[in-house]
Amino acid sequence: MSKVSNGSAKTGHNGQSNGESAPIKPIYKRELVYHHIIWMPFVHLCGIYGLYLAVTAVQYKTIFFMDLMALFASFGTLCGAHRLWSHRSFKAKLPFQIILMVLSTLAFQSPAYEWARDHRLHHKYSDTDADPHNSRRGFFFSHIGWLMCRKHPEVKEKGKTIDVSDLDSDPLLQFQKKYYLLLGAFIWGLGPAYIPHWLWDEPLWSSWFVCVMLRYCVSLNTTFLINSAAHMYGMKPYDKSIVPVEAHMRHFLVGEGFHNYHHTFPMDYSASELGAIDTFNPATAFIDMFAAIGWAYDLKKPSNDVVKRRQTRCGDIHYSFRSRLSEQIVGLGKR
Ligand SMILES: [Zn+2]
Ligand SMILES: [Zn+2]
Repeated sequence: MSKVSNGSAKTGHNGQSNGESAPIKPIYKRELVYHHIIWMPFVHLCGIYGLYLAVTAVQYKTIFFMDLMALFASFGTLCGAHRLWSHRSFKAKLPFQIILMVLSTLAFQSPAYEWARDHRLHHKYSDTDADPHNSRRGFFFSHIGWLMCRKHPEVKEKGKTIDVSDLDSDPLLQFQKKYYLLLGAFIWGLGPAYIPHWLWDEPLWSSWFVCVMLRYCVSLNTTFLINSAAHMYGMKPYDKSIVPVEAHMRHFLVGEGFHNYHHTFPMDYSASELGAIDTFNPATAFIDMFAAIGWAYDLKKPSNDVVKRRQTRCGDIHYSFRSRLSEQIVGLGKR
């Protein structure tokens, strides 16, 4: 069933004509994607059942393994699809690229090629109709609803302006894209389900629901919250003119909730203003670890001077250091 939508308040859709020569855009008709409308609730129901098994049935080793898989999957999305392939905020030698490709398949949030292409569009046309998860269309849409309907025509139109030539010429990303479902079946699904079964006799049924479906549910929603909550609830210390915020819940978003900073300085390899520990940013620690052995290099970070100048010009200069996790814990970061 299709439904006519007004979409975002900012850009409009039906092209009120200012004169005879002004082009009239067609009215946007929202078209639903039924397989995602079925798949997403199914994933969440399985995740809830996985949570029930995690609390009542499985061994502690299985819980630990699930946490470990969730952490490694987050490295695939955050270090790989986001900071390396979307923003090129650091460079990686081939072995590290292969590791990140495998981990991004473990996360199973679409091939890194598509993830990076859509994310570049998200940054360039943030919070407009050309943004795939435009937060001006509400929390539900930007969180998960955008996956349940066809892309807005502006997404397709403006998508043509995004340069993805580096992604097109990357053989590793093309390989992952070509064999994504096959790779995903083993790396996202069968591997994490069978390992606890083989190594410590966890029933395969429990292992599947906890280590695959519950872990997937948590991983998806963490990413979704960066598109929804981190564009809505928080502060704007670096640039008040943009929608993304330093989210109130930033320390739960594994280093990606410092979103006003990230949209202001997208080239920062840490996606946040402070270090790995100050902001609970395990993805930064992961990149730092590979930088220490030379597999990650040319890590980009704007100087304090550049950040301060931008903060003075566009944001709130008094915000400094209110992002630290330690200050959040003792209540000093509240405002
Ligand atoms: Zn964003
Ligand atoms: Zn980004």
